Amino acid sequence: MLYLVEHFYSIQGEGKYTGTPSLFFRFGGCNMRCEGFGCKEIASNGTTVLGCDTVYAVNREHFAHNWVQIDDAKKLLNILDLYELPHAVDIVLTGGEPLIYAHDEIFIEFLTQLYKHGHTITFETNGSLHVDFEKYPIYKNFIFALSVKLSNSHEALSKRVRGDVIFSIASKAKDAFFKFSIDAESIDLGLEEEISNIIIHSPKTKVYCMPLGGSKKEVEANTLPLIEFCKAKGYNFSDRLHIRVWDQNKGV
Ligand code: SF4
Repeated sequence: MLYLVEHFYSIQGEGKYTGTPSLFFRFGGCNMRCEGFGCKEIASNGTTVLGCDTVYAVNREHFAHNWVQIDDAKKLLNILDLYELPHAVDIVLTGGEPLIYAHDEIFIEFLTQLYKHGHTITFETNGSLHVDFEKYPIYKNFIFALSVKLSNSHEALSKRVRGDVIFSIASKAKDAFFKFSIDAESIDLGLEEEISNIIIHSPKTKVYCMPLGGSKKEVEANTLPLIEFCKAKGYNFSDRLHIRVWDQNKGV
């Protein structure tokens, strides 16, 4: 069983393909919580829930009642008919963590049909979950934005950095790139070493650093220090265009 949180047609707001018109599917559930990111969302019972900027797609306890259960790939495929889309528009699968469903038969059928109809598919993933490329070779045709979590997520190192998974995805997929969310305070706290210890698992994979934050104000506060960091280290700066343009509005 899959859980879909929302779908929307917009432009890709971050990473290597920033600006590409894309249909987004946000799936519910994640293997992490990333409370260190400090974003807050009020649940329907009034509880303040701490996590990342998509905590409403992560925390089952407080938000799963808003998620849609998907028991047939057609339910997902029919969503494309709700929009006026250009031919074979790019599809972005995000979350939460979409790869918690990587080996689910409904999910595989969804991917197979999308690929058959010529869509370019990008996974936005934390890069910590194994993908079985041998059993499901269709994954070799997809793009993976590897948003491997740093210590500022407050997740355990052994959970957030899986060298074998990073190597496997980066070496077997059609394309992959690293994407890190960074706040100004972390820049001086051994961040370069942290990033080096992650990218060592796939040294030729490009690195994009984005300003951390769930609001325009937070993103803007982290932007200039991060640009300086990127200039010094030779990493690519990636904006978070969707937050800068639409701030905290979801589904745009
Ligand atoms: S891994 Fe990603 S989706 Fe999951 S809690 Fe962390 S930032 Fe949020």
